[in-house]
Amino acid sequence: MKKTIKDYNLKGKKVIIRCDFNVPMDNGIIKDDSRIRKSLKTIRYARKNGAKVILLSHLGRIKTEKDKEKYTLKPIAESLSKLLRKKVIFIEETRGQKVEDAVKNMKEKDIILLENTRFEDLDKERESKNDKKLGKYWAKLGDIYINDAFGTIHRAHASNLGISKNIKSGIGFLVEKEIKELEKLTKNPKRPYTIILGGSKVSDKIGLIKNLTKKADYILIGGGMAFTFLKAAGFSIGSSLCEKDQIPFCKELLEKHQDNIILPIDIITASEIKEGTKTEERFINEIQEDEIGLDIGHKTLEVFKQYIDDSKTVFWNGPMGYFEIKEFSKGTKDLCKIISSSKAYKIIGGGDTARAVIEMGYEKNMDHISTGGGASLSFLEGAKLKALDIINEK
Ligand code: ADP
Ligand code: MG
Repeated sequence: MKKTIKDYNLKGKKVIIRCDFNVPMDNGIIKDDSRIRKSLKTIRYARKNGAKVILLSHLGRIKTEKDKEKYTLKPIAESLSKLLRKKVIFIEETRGQKVEDAVKNMKEKDIILLENTRFEDLDKERESKNDKKLGKYWAKLGDIYINDAFGTIHRAHASNLGISKNIKSGIGFLVEKEIKELEKLTKNPKRPYTIILGGSKVSDKIGLIKNLTKKADYILIGGGMAFTFLKAAGFSIGSSLCEKDQIPFCKELLEKHQDNIILPIDIITASEIKEGTKTEERFINEIQEDEIGLDIGHKTLEVFKQYIDDSKTVFWNGPMGYFEIKEFSKGTKDLCKIISSSKAYKIIGGGDTARAVIEMGYEKNMDHISTGGGASLSFLEGAKLKALDIINEK
């Protein structure tokens, strides 16, 4: 078990909390503040225990001076102040005299938020490439470092690994919960354990597929990646997404897990990917040359339902179709419904999958939706999470 914020005496200490305020923004307006809300528990705990709270976060990608206007953390400070009912002092710099003075003047329970850590990327990607001096500089501002940004925990950045290398570190409540939930999938899951995989590409998920197929009882495959599997199984897939170089991998997997990899039996097809296009529902041996498979059909959903209803643990990553377009969103939406009504422990991972579940209104029916896309998949692959690994065990 990693050290957590609870393992430190915070009274009067300067506590740097690395949050994940990487929220969707539109012209300075926060489109969805759920990531901000999820950070509150750790911040409140630090204040309650008499810390001087210094917040760091990234937002978006910073490649040009212009990106700075788009991705300033100023609106985040305003939103946080409202949510906490306490003024969060925003410092428009990532380092320098202003930052140092603000930190020096802090009293217990004060909160300051520094500007977007990725502003440092304009100079040789100092944040994203974990510039040693930058990590050391930020570390010097505080006494204790708490990493509560799960979304970037698989990366080595100056604002996570870089700081942890220099001062006493622990994880916050959000990261602690993510690990606890995701470990339910990797350590003794309740069986039957079913994983549902979809999304665009096999190649994005090779590590995940390899690691989870060993552990799961059933693997249901939909989405774009299903077509490379169907091709490997000998079907004609028309103009559907196909990664030729992954066919041998898919073949091998299908042979190894004959009885527990379940592929679609019917597909929604169209001749073009656009709103209002005419669709067909085809059995998988009926896909035409000029057709693109863009969703799973209703018979496949019936089959998937049987497996899901029989399961005690369900993990889902990857939309079942091109859900951004209404005509191809039914598979993903119906799967939300099927999972919602099952008695299994239900965990959702992956950026687009989480977005689909939330947008379609099924967030409350799930037991856990991971906030980290790449990070949750890396964890489930069994990969080392660089910024977590460095934090000492209790
Ligand atoms: P996640 O972010 O949850 O891990 P992915 O990024 O792997 O998921 O996949 C999401 C994308 O996959 C979506 O943008 C969706 O449009 C696309 N997708 C799903 N099914 C298909 C399909 N049949 N053909 C093309 N793209 C698809
Ligand atoms: Mg994605």
